[in-house]
Amino acid sequence: MSDPSEALASAKAAADRIVNVKRLNACLTPIKELRKSLAAQASTAHPSGVLYGMPVAVKDNICTLEFTTSCGSKILEGYRSPYDATAAAKLKAAGALIAGKTNCDEFGMGSSTEHSAYGRTLHPFDKTRVPGGSSGGSAALVAAGAVPAALGSETGGSVRQPASLCGVVGIKPTYGRVSRYGLVAFGSSLDQIGVLGRSVHDAARVLSVISGRDPKDSTCEDRDSLRLPNVPESLQGFVIGVPKEYFPQDLDAAVRRACDRAIRLLRELGAAVREVSLPHTAYAVATYYIIAPAEASSNLARYDGARYGPRFNGSEDVRALYRTTRGDGFGPEVRRRVLVGTYVLSSGYYDAYYRKAQQMRALIAQDFRNVFDRGVDLLFTPTTPTPAFKAGEKLNDPVAMYLSDIFTVTANIAGLPAISVPIGRIKGLPIGGQLIGQAFLEDEMLEAAYALERAVPAAEEA
Ligand code: GLN
Repeated sequence: MSDPSEALASAKAAADRIVNVKRLNACLTPIKELRKSLAAQASTAHPSGVLYGMPVAVKDNICTLEFTTSCGSKILEGYRSPYDATAAAKLKAAGALIAGKTNCDEFGMGSSTEHSAYGRTLHPFDKTRVPGGSSGGSAALVAAGAVPAALGSETGGSVRQPASLCGVVGIKPTYGRVSRYGLVAFGSSLDQIGVLGRSVHDAARVLSVISGRDPKDSTCEDRDSLRLPNVPESLQGFVIGVPKEYFPQDLDAAVRRACDRAIRLLRELGAAVREVSLPHTAYAVATYYIIAPAEASSNLARYDGARYGPRFNGSEDVRALYRTTRGDGFGPEVRRRVLVGTYVLSSGYYDAYYRKAQQMRALIAQDFRNVFDRGVDLLFTPTTPTPAFKAGEKLNDPVAMYLSDIFTVTANIAGLPAISVPIGRIKGLPIGGQLIGQAFLEDEMLEAAYALERAVPAAEEA
């Protein structure tokens, strides 16, 4: 696309498609506002940009000038950021159109998008099920065909898990590959902006645009933006490790079948596949659910009614202002995280929990280095232990909800890039396979993902 009339048509078509899937509650932006903004963006977008006219939806915890940024929370209802996140600014500079803000679990805390103050998002193929989370709105919009790609964010799997459950591609880049400037902080040492796309190519194109150095984020690496690899003819020369800890005895039989088929296809493509071990995997969920809440409790201290968003009434003094604002403004899952985080950081328990979790984090990261040092290029695992679960099924059982992140949190803990690619269906519900790569070697990971995507019958029952 290269002329403004095409960009305008693309903007209008995107708005129409988003209206058509309104029942999913995936997009939080009011439709009138969305239409107006898309038209305005299309008329000013730069025709020479590599994403010219491409509608890209953005998770509601990524700041944009055009729309409010509520993070799925009441505490930021109506909040308008005075600046664009670097990722959003880069999208616009490349000619893309920001196609509204997507529903998510409050501040990214959750795995089902049920923890949103604005109602749950429905799974696009089965309204009784969840789309995964926390980037469930982005995943549902892409899976429903409303946009070719959307930004999400990852602290422990929030791009890959919903991608897996909705049958789309989800990429979590290496920590430091994409600027976090303007991504509302959850667990700063784990957070990365990621991309959901209807294909590896769509997701990778968007990732390439948003990647690269940013003086506004000191944790963003001083590197050029990601160069996209070609689609490989074969995977000859690739060594792919299959970590046995990700295939426990009690793994869902259909998930195992889908993975076995994907592994067979990787072999047929020429890759050497070998079993490997990541011995500290069993501690990953516990480690994550100490570190992430600890960082969250500190990051969320800023929401006090004095600085951002609405102020809740009935506050006669400053302590009461904090109490009522935070008590009314945060939902139950966020309050739980703040409590857990404050507890594990408190002086009496710091050594017992937080320090131990940091030590375990180092061991988990070392597990990956050991495997990669022995000549393994990439790892293959399931993305999620099951297909999309029923709404309400895990809502009152936080541990069951947390366990749906069991295969994804490790890449965040170790800072590694990972991608989920659809590898089959189980009774019509999609399931994803995950490739975990080495730090800053997204190009190799994408090559393997391209090949797998082409070979695997993703729409077939496993
Ligand atoms: N589901 C995980 C959590 O609730 C991961 C969330 C995320 O990646 N943002 O913390």
